[in-house]
Amino acid sequence: MAAALGQSAGSSPEVAVVGAGAFGVWTALHLVEAGARVTLLDAYGAGNPRATSGDETRQIRGGYGTREIYSRWALRAMERWKQRQQEFGRTLFHPIGRLQMSAQLTAEMQGTQRVLDKLKVPFETLTPEEIRRRWPVIQPEGVGVGLYEPGAAILKARETCLTVAQVFERKGGRLRVARAEPGDAAGSQLSNLKLGDGSRVAAGSFVFACGPWLRKLFPDLLGKRLATPRRDVLYFGTPAGDARFNYPQLPNFSESAFYGFPSLDSRGFKICPTNADTNFDPDSDERVAAPFQMKRARDFLALRFPALRDQPIVATHVCQLENTPDEHFIIDRHPQWSNVWIAGGGSGHGFKHGPVLGDYIAQRVLGRDPDPEYQEFFRLQKA
Ligand SMILES: Cc1cc2nc3c(=O)[nH]c(=O)nc-3n(C[C@H](O)[C@H](O)[C@H](O)COP(=O)(O)OP(=O)(O)OC[C@H]3O[C@@H](n4cnc5c(N)ncnc54)[C@H](O)[C@@H]3O)c2cc1C
Repeated sequence: MAAALGQSAGSSPEVAVVGAGAFGVWTALHLVEAGARVTLLDAYGAGNPRATSGDETRQIRGGYGTREIYSRWALRAMERWKQRQQEFGRTLFHPIGRLQMSAQLTAEMQGTQRVLDKLKVPFETLTPEEIRRRWPVIQPEGVGVGLYEPGAAILKARETCLTVAQVFERKGGRLRVARAEPGDAAGSQLSNLKLGDGSRVAAGSFVFACGPWLRKLFPDLLGKRLATPRRDVLYFGTPAGDARFNYPQLPNFSESAFYGFPSLDSRGFKICPTNADTNFDPDSDERVAAPFQMKRARDFLALRFPALRDQPIVATHVCQLENTPDEHFIIDRHPQWSNVWIAGGGSGHGFKHGPVLGDYIAQRVLGRDPDPEYQEFFRLQKA
């Protein structure tokens, strides 16, 4: 095992982590905490606006349809977010609840109810009248049912990447701004990374946590397995002197092709229309919100939050997903190099798991497996 980790007798393992988004920073932090010597490299810097983790906020909730493995991790992650923010001295976890609205109780919602029941996670099933009574700014016309999970929360995304990267450095890790790709190899082992300036970074193990860039770095392996559809995130202004749309007055919400958050830190009322599937180039595509998505979001607001109908868009962010066909993460060895790990495929739900995911990946790299039943789901190549 020591040789596979590039660990000479008496020394600690040396690992290079490429990518300082959610997958990379949390992995690098856990590796350093486990005693490894770690270099973390990012082409554009931790939490940069091209990264999928570079948006303002993300959500954490226990409800996941029938995909219990992720509910379990999300619940474990909630506890770790709370512990970590204490340790970091930063508020990254904002408890708020989540309301899923629908014309009727779908099979997916029923699956969520069953799993939450089994895991003893509090939730409520609400009528439209009850939704209106609790949150009078919601106009529930056409809504038949609401599934409310009070323990859900908003997470600070970009700020988390920056904070975790800083803590990683404080604990002895080395952070570099550099674009990296696989360098020289000897048999089934990668020896080093090749950086943009032609220099090399040697290590015993390598983790490529490059989010949507993974398909560009490993086109033969992942070109067809990862899709990178764009997402337009729109922040609408709230009316002057009106706090009803601010955190913590309203829960996060979702409905068919839309979801959103109340205004946190006065940033604006967030709406994200889904349903677009154009592949996005994370390096070169411009991040300017699409007029048709702005119109869709405004039409949704006019229906569901009519008091915001005429508010201006005050900020926008365009990002991309990195979706696998089955929406399971990829955490596996490279088929050619046994000391290279691929970690990504967040598929629209990876951020929340950061503190658990990073621990899991670090342990796999160090030759342990804390959750053996998860391995099958995270395989690069499925039978
Ligand atoms: C609109 C939207 C909403 C979402 N909502 C949620 C949510 O509510 N809850 C949730 O849990 N998840 C959510 N997700 C998913 C979540 O954001 C992602 O799963 C997660 O952020 C992915 O992190 P990552 O580290 O894999 O990738 P990224 O954050 O993209 O990080 C990859 C990093 O690698 C660097 N990099 C790439 N190539 C190289 C290279 N060759 N050399 C050096 N560095 C390189 C990049 O600069 C980047 O910083 C959402 C995603 C989107 C788009």
